[in-house]
Amino acid sequence: MKIINPATEDLIKEIPEDNAESIAAKFAILQNGQLAWGSVPLPIRIQCIEKFYALLDEQKDELAKTLTSEMGKPLQQSYNEINGARNRIKFFIDNSSKWLAEEWITTEGPTKEKISYEPLGIIANISAWNYPYLVGVNVFIPALIGGNAVFYKPSEYASLTGLAIQKLLYQSGIPENAFQIAIGKGEVGELLLQLPLDGYFFTGSYRTGKYIAEKVAPKLVPCQLELGGKDPLYVMDDVADIDNVAAAALEGVVYNNGQSCCAVERIYVQEKIYDQFVKSYTTQAGKMKIGDPLDPSTEIGPLSRKEQREFLLAQIKDAKDKGAIIIPGGNEINTKGYFIQPMALVNVNHDMKIMTEESFGPVTGIQKVKDDNEALQLMQDTEYGLTAAIYSNSFERAEALMKQINTGTVYWNCCDRVSASLPWSGRKHSGLGATLSYQGIRAFVQPKAYHIRG
Ligand code: NAD
Repeated sequence: MKIINPATEDLIKEIPEDNAESIAAKFAILQNGQLAWGSVPLPIRIQCIEKFYALLDEQKDELAKTLTSEMGKPLQQSYNEINGARNRIKFFIDNSSKWLAEEWITTEGPTKEKISYEPLGIIANISAWNYPYLVGVNVFIPALIGGNAVFYKPSEYASLTGLAIQKLLYQSGIPENAFQIAIGKGEVGELLLQLPLDGYFFTGSYRTGKYIAEKVAPKLVPCQLELGGKDPLYVMDDVADIDNVAAAALEGVVYNNGQSCCAVERIYVQEKIYDQFVKSYTTQAGKMKIGDPLDPSTEIGPLSRKEQREFLLAQIKDAKDKGAIIIPGGNEINTKGYFIQPMALVNVNHDMKIMTEESFGPVTGIQKVKDDNEALQLMQDTEYGLTAAIYSNSFERAEALMKQINTGTVYWNCCDRVSASLPWSGRKHSGLGATLSYQGIRAFVQPKAYHIRG
């Protein structure tokens, strides 16, 4: 399989892909190892993860460079991702013992009762390319701590990072028969669906997620999905500093080259401050430095995949054909690579794909609304339900909307943010189940109820 640098379109490396035979052999290795790993005492399993946590820091320079080269995120953001992943790992290190401990429910009377938490078994971790460390650790860290064996399939666009993760886990003491990697495209993921695994944990697009859920359903094993979004941000007319809000919204749109599941994908602004907001947003967007992501001063790199650029250009054309006006930034990009300028589209509405389909790029529509009711109606007009952000000086006014919005996460005066302590969950086409928080520890174990008489 060819690994292409999205900033230069050069071949980085060619690596061997898995096939039906190698996947079957790796599955047999995990079958041999899961019970042994599950019976390693929890503190020892956690010690291995502590070592992994330390190694990520020791090797971050090399790891960050690899990540930026294969998927194009600006170098500083690769460091941020590795640091962010370490914060999440620290959460699991600090909190797993509490949430995996046996719980005594009744210790009095003739029948005592307790709950214990047992591993699911061998689970699949089928992952996306946009944040391979962050979305990876949401799954393989609590899964391994919980005593599961993991069949990890990184995205074909983040395979070198996936291989680096595997190497560091082995160096940390995770046995090879508790963690195996599947390298390849969708067909290799498909091979994992054919195995009798004990759980499927998927991060990726709605289209693939729905397909996986349908395929896995007859197995009657847990199937969790972290999927896409079309996350709205609404700016009320009482905000104190429009420039600050525009800066925050812009960062929410363009961070990670616009390729975050919880990126701001559409903006609604109350009419009184609309013109001022658009001017501030587009002026700031025009000043952003776009180019070589390995250059530490770059703020926006290329999109990770060629097809993604074509998809986004088609969305922009659709909006333009229906009357949208495009306000591009100042930086023309005339080099090789899958670059796209940050831009805002105004005069937009929900007949345009740019306001309804996931875009996954540094591009957003900014729509004028007259009041909170209209904003709420438009924010809810989506098949997705990942996050929604509201900027206002009044928490009461914002909260009235936050309570009604049908998303797994809501933000007041912030956006595009994930916390290890809070459940990360999508509603509707944004997913099923939750990772992170205590719920993301318990997601990888199954309860056993003990009735003890005598
Ligand atoms: P994708 O659905 O194209 O691929 C995801 C993974 O599934 C890859 O590893 C791919 O090889 C594999 N795959 C593809 N076809 C398969 C099949 N038939 N059977 C089994 N596996 C298969 O998604 P992507 O382009 O890698 O990721 C981008 C998407 O992920 C966006 O929609 C984004 O919003 C979403 N995402 C969501 C979250 C979240 O937490 N909700 C986080 C990151 C990304």
